[in-house]
Amino acid sequence: MPLLPKDDDSTRNSNNGVNGVNKQDSNAIPKANASPTYDTAYENGPQLSSVRASAQEKNGKSKIRDKDEAFPRISLPVELMRSSYDVVVIGSGYGGGVAASRMARGRQSVCVLERGKERWPGEFPETTVDTLKELHVSGEFAPGDRRGIPGKLVDKGKPNGLYQFVVGEGQNVFLGNGLGGTSLLNANVFLESHPDVLNMEIWPEELRGKSSWEKYYERARQVLEPVEYPISFPEIAKANLLKKQAELMGWSDKYYRVPQTTRFEDGPNSTGVYMRASQLTGMDATGINDGSKSTTLVNYMSDAWNWGAEIFCNCEIRYVTKAPEDRGGYIVYFAWHSCNRDRFTTFFDDLMWVHAKKLVFFGAGSIGTTEILLRSKQMGLDISDDLGSEMSGNGDMLGFG
Ligand SMILES: Cc1cc2nc3c(=O)[nH]c(=O)nc-3n(C[C@H](O)[C@H](O)[C@H](O)COP(=O)(O)OP(=O)(O)OC[C@H]3O[C@@H](n4cnc5c(N)ncnc54)[C@H](O)[C@@H]3O)c2cc1C
Repeated sequence: MPLLPKDDDSTRNSNNGVNGVNKQDSNAIPKANASPTYDTAYENGPQLSSVRASAQEKNGKSKIRDKDEAFPRISLPVELMRSSYDVVVIGSGYGGGVAASRMARGRQSVCVLERGKERWPGEFPETTVDTLKELHVSGEFAPGDRRGIPGKLVDKGKPNGLYQFVVGEGQNVFLGNGLGGTSLLNANVFLESHPDVLNMEIWPEELRGKSSWEKYYERARQVLEPVEYPISFPEIAKANLLKKQAELMGWSDKYYRVPQTTRFEDGPNSTGVYMRASQLTGMDATGINDGSKSTTLVNYMSDAWNWGAEIFCNCEIRYVTKAPEDRGGYIVYFAWHSCNRDRFTTFFDDLMWVHAKKLVFFGAGSIGTTEILLRSKQMGLDISDDLGSEMSGNGDMLGFG
């Protein structure tokens, strides 16, 4: 295991830019004296990843993105990772994305570690063969009627593939690995919790009741920009059927078009990333190539990048320990999926690490975070014995066609 080197923060404190942009360049990243709070930052902060937007408009004309038109990347090669950051964020879905964006806006040096790869519209699999190459199935196959026969343990497919199924008794989980997490594969529906849920006593007092949440919903709304399916778009047979069913049941007043984070017009989003109007491909659950999906890649993660966060993909966190006392903070240990390193049986024995001076955010999803914390507990981190118990899911079924 490598020894921890002395703190190295010189790059962050210099005037040299991060992410290839000079900090003095007022158009690209925040002005040194801007000191935005999160509330004001969207008004005052940078609105445009200019490189990305400029790639979309040629000769003043809007054009459909070619499949092989390369996007600029926002993740860095692992070789460029520094040994120490103020904050390390694990995962890049909604949890990790929000944490990275807020911490970067709060002028912390931020390192984001994501297990999956960075993939932009145009790079998602569209054929069955390509989709199968991105599949990872792990867990214990345990069919309901197995009469005490132990399930079969499986771990097959691409370890950090885009589509992961975790199977187990009573619950199966489908999740996404990639820069953007499961937002790359979800259904884009933006709904607020029912007030009865928010009134439950289980919430800490400061989060109890709908009014405590309004400020946060508003912030998320500003970033994710949900809209209803426009009436100017083609009619959708399924939506019409649901409407008819509601009418027949006397629930017409309950039928409405849900707000969704799909884009229905071309133009830059809240972060300045140029988006395209949906072409109604229906490929939400495998990744959409038309540039209309408001994943955390194109909002929270791009925003974090705009504010100087350093993002590293193909990094699978194994566990976190407390750093030695003279150093403080935490050490985050990870395996690097690159150059086919994961084909070796010793892959998880030879770990890399990064130091978090202040905070580690666990945004690896409910399965990923629990796994990392359970392993961290085994490695000595002081964590409750209740970890991993009483988990429940929110889906009844999932179909792919
Ligand atoms: C098919 C489908 C449709 C859905 N539709 C909707 C919807 O319409 N509306 C809605 O609100 N919600 C929907 N959801 C749920 C929603 O997408 C999830 O609740 C949300 O994405 C979870 O966010 P998260 O940040 O907690 O985790 P995730 O988005 O899963 O992000 C976790 C990230 O951590 C990474 N990671 C995991 N383990 C490690 C590790 N060891 N080291 C490093 N990185 C790691 C993963 O690669 C991933 O990128 C849907 C989900 C699915 C599967």
